[in-house]
Amino acid sequence: GGGDNGGDTYKVGVDTTYPPFEFQEGGDYKGIDIDLINAIAEDQGFNIELKPMDFGGIIPAIQADQLDVAIAGMSITDDRKKKVDFSDPYFDAGLTLVVSKDNNDITKPEDLKGKVVAVKNGTTGADKAQELKDEVGIKEIRQFNDSPSMFQEVSNGNADVLIEDYPVIAYAIKSKDLGLKTVGDRLNGDQYGIAVKKGENQELLKMINEGLQNLRDNGKYDEIINTYLEGE
Ligand code: GLN
Repeated sequence: GGGDNGGDTYKVGVDTTYPPFEFQEGGDYKGIDIDLINAIAEDQGFNIELKPMDFGGIIPAIQADQLDVAIAGMSITDDRKKKVDFSDPYFDAGLTLVVSKDNNDITKPEDLKGKVVAVKNGTTGADKAQELKDEVGIKEIRQFNDSPSMFQEVSNGNADVLIEDYPVIAYAIKSKDLGLKTVGDRLNGDQYGIAVKKGENQELLKMINEGLQNLRDNGKYDEIINTYLEGE
């Protein structure tokens, strides 16, 4: 990456901080999403300009033509399909409950009754909390703009539980002593997709899907995943 791949330049929305999918190291953006979109761009002969932003702002920014593409650990959902077009899936994920290491009274969704839940704006985790609020009676849902702030809220005891994508929280717990643990079964299973503006970007979507397939065929996809998730 880094060089000119020829072709058009597309603005690519990424989450501000969402390791192992996107994070900053020494001023550079790294991660599975960053490497994938760079490799797709190189394969298909276009250029990208990264636009890190709060996850909750990404779909609105696509709709407002401020972004051409988003790759942000974004789960493909029926609701989002009404607003954007998705590429073929590129990663399997799903939500989990996360509590403080010494918390033993939350192991399943029903245990959220009367609890304070931290979520990140605009995410499937936030949607799940809303759903559980009606189902089991959550006391309060606190919204954060980025995952580290949400983790912090449970680490420091201000919230009882948070909801996050399993691969992301598992990676965070492994890399840092957050005082957190995942509990219970996955709350759902979903898949990440790369998003473009709905209905108007079929050519770009085709390049993205072709690039993704080429990376799967030539081993580059596995190489990227293994760079960040070796041994998992
Ligand atoms: N996969 C989740 C979603 O799509 C979370 C994404 C994120 O926080 N970057 O809502």
